[in-house]
Order: sequence, then structure tokens, then C-alpha cells
Amino acid sequence: MNAEKMQLVFATNNDHKLTEIRDILGDSFKLLSLKDLNIEEDIPENEPSLEGNAMHKARHVYGILNMDVFADDTGLETDALNGLPGVHSARFAGEDKNSDDNIDKLLDLMGSSENRKARFRTIIALILDGKEYIFEGISEGTIISERRGREGFGYDPVFVPAGSNLTYAEMPLNDKNKISHRARAFNKLKEFLYQYNLKDNKDRN
Ligand code: IMP
Repeated sequence: MNAEKMQLVFATNNDHKLTEIRDILGDSFKLLSLKDLNIEEDIPENEPSLEGNAMHKARHVYGILNMDVFADDTGLETDALNGLPGVHSARFAGEDKNSDDNIDKLLDLMGSSENRKARFRTIIALILDGKEYIFEGISEGTIISERRGREGFGYDPVFVPAGSNLTYAEMPLNDKNKISHRARAFNKLKEFLYQYNLKDNKDRN
């Protein structure tokens, strides 16, 4: 590993995520995307857990490149539906369906259930100097029964994070990114990498 500026691969093809994570990690890290490395394939996410999917993606890319790499996976978990949509969040309503269909299915299944508690959970799997690590970021909240707001993506219009009256889709993206599950998980990764880098530099001196 480069002691001055850590070079890491982010196992994603999503440019929006890459920009968001570059912003969180700052200048101390050189972040490469799969596109930068000419890996065009869509790595399958068929594992039964978010942890499994994230680690599978990281291991897959590590197997090809033998470089330090991390991957993420996020899901919305509801208490009323025993954790669904969870690992199925992206394709909850079916392969060819979109976020709107996913929300319709979620609201339909939840019906008039009184328990509206839910959480977004982001898992990051990191492989660094050949060792595996997992980081988790959680954003607790509730599912409301009608959509509100136009910002964000996915289930944002029906998710109200704890401590707020607004859905994620009613907040400016900057506000969401300060408190979101993804921000929490990536801040943990950032802190870990800083500490690791410091120790690595010390060990070399
Ligand atoms: P991914 O693992 O980040 O691709 O997320 C999987 C799915 O979870 C997405 O397709 C969305 O449906 C949902 N999701 C992930 N993050 C968010 C979020 O911040 N807001 C709303 N939905 C999200």
C-alpha cells in the first residue's frame, strides 16, 4: 500500500455514488472506480445478506486486481415485514420494475400496520492488505403511508428519519448526506483508513 496517498478501488459502476464517496473521503485517498480499471461487468448480488453481497463484490474485484478494494450494499428493513425488503430492496417489485413500483409494493404490504419502524442499513466490505473488514451505518426512521418530496432516490419519499419531520425526499441532498446510513458507514471507513494510514507510516519510520 502507498503510505503517502492510499489508493483504493471502489467496486461500483455508479458515478453518483463515486462522487458522493469521493466527497466524504477527501483528498487523502486516491479512489479508483471499476470504470477507471476497465471492469465493465455487473457483479451479481445474490447473497442472502447485505454483508454477503458487499463482501462478495469486494472479493470478486480483489480476485481480479489484487488491489485494496471496498464495496457497499444498502437495504431498507421494516419491522412490520420482518426485515423486508432488506437485501431485496433494489428489485423488491421485480427485475424490470422501478423505485415507484418498489414503494407501491412496500406500502401495499405494510397496509395499515401500526408498527411503521424501519431503518436503512449500509454495509461496506473492505479488503486491505489482504485482510477483510466490515463497516455498518444505520439510519433509523419510520415509513409513512403516502409519498412526500422529490429529492433523493429509491424509498426516500416514504422514509422519515428519526428526529426529523421531513422525508429524505423533502430534504436538500446535503442535509440527507450528513445523517444518512451511507454517510455513517463511509465516515467509519474513513476514520479506519486514517488510523491505518497513520500506523502504516509510523511502522515505516
Ligand atoms: P444499493 O446497495 O446502494 O445499490 O441500494 C440498494 C437499493 O436500496 C436501492 O436500489 C434503493 O432502492 C435502496 N436504497 C439504497 N440507499 C437508499 C437511500 O439512501 N434512499 C432510498 N433508498 C435507498
